Amino acid sequence: MHEFDVIARYFSWDTTATRSVVRGVGDDAAVLDVPADKQLVTSIDTLISGVHFPQHTSAQAIGHKALAVNLSDLAAMGANPAWFTLALTMPEMNNDWLKGFSSGLQSLAQQYGIALVGGDTTRGTLSISIQVMGLVDKGKALLRSGAKAGDKIYVTGTLGDAAAGLQTILGKLKLAATDQQFCQQQLNQPQPRLHESCIISGFASACIDISDGLLQDLSHILVASGVGARIDTRKIPLSAALKTLERAQALQFALSGGDDYALLFTIPVAQEEQFLSAMQSSMYTDVQCIGVISNDKNTIHDQHNHLLTATGYQHFHA
Ligand code: ADP
Ligand code: MG
Repeated sequence: MHEFDVIARYFSWDTTATRSVVRGVGDDAAVLDVPADKQLVTSIDTLISGVHFPQHTSAQAIGHKALAVNLSDLAAMGANPAWFTLALTMPEMNNDWLKGFSSGLQSLAQQYGIALVGGDTTRGTLSISIQVMGLVDKGKALLRSGAKAGDKIYVTGTLGDAAAGLQTILGKLKLAATDQQFCQQQLNQPQPRLHESCIISGFASACIDISDGLLQDLSHILVASGVGARIDTRKIPLSAALKTLERAQALQFALSGGDDYALLFTIPVAQEEQFLSAMQSSMYTDVQCIGVISNDKNTIHDQHNHLLTATGYQHFHA
């Protein structure tokens, strides 16, 4: 199969419904209409086999995850998804694999209304780069740098499930069958928090998505904002699956495990009540306050005043 056949068969989706796409797949480059009152928000992430997903992950899950991790970055910026491009490198033109990959990619793209407008197809070790483009109202992008002392620290969903899922795949952790399935699903098919982001963006002072673990990603907000944090480890949201583990191990996954793609954000106290009622009147109510921003620059303390570092899980006191 020739490269052009691959593009025509698997990656030339109908984007005529997306009026902003003047030219999509098929010309030398895409031509897109950017509304005058918006700013373009763009990000790229690469997934490499054996590094960013386990070697035997299904093609469909790889297609899903490659786009999901990028949509998560748009969610963290408070941006609405608009377009994406795909650079696909694969060892061979395998029809079954391409069919699964493109179906995983396309169903997530349709779910969030993002159009595939171009890409590149090459031969080599399996690697997928997706560049997403989204739109925000001018000056309204959610940055890492806006957190102030006193702001409340929130997260979406439950933490640590993907990290536990990875350990079960690697044979280093045993969970009951349904818990294992849940955790592996969180690892392989994360859901970008775009619906939550629409509400959060109206209230938050800073936001990031959790890709490298709560403590690591929280420290990015702290450095960018020049502040510290006090978190209560008893408030960290854990799934039913993680609650079956010893608490110290569950907390280790939740605080330092990667691949959650939850949102971590700060809400000024004056906005908190309004934020919570906006959350409650939507379908997406699973946010949890886990602490507060402090003046201690770049440090994270727990409820016992112990210092937490991204790798220091042995110091956790549940
Ligand atoms: P060029 O030689 O001009 O770079 P290509 O042969 O790489 O052209 O691509 C032809 C067209 O197909 C371009 O519009 C490109 O954006 C698109 N394309 C190539 N690979 C992909 C892909 N994996 N997914 C989506 N579009 C692709
Ligand atoms: Mg090319």
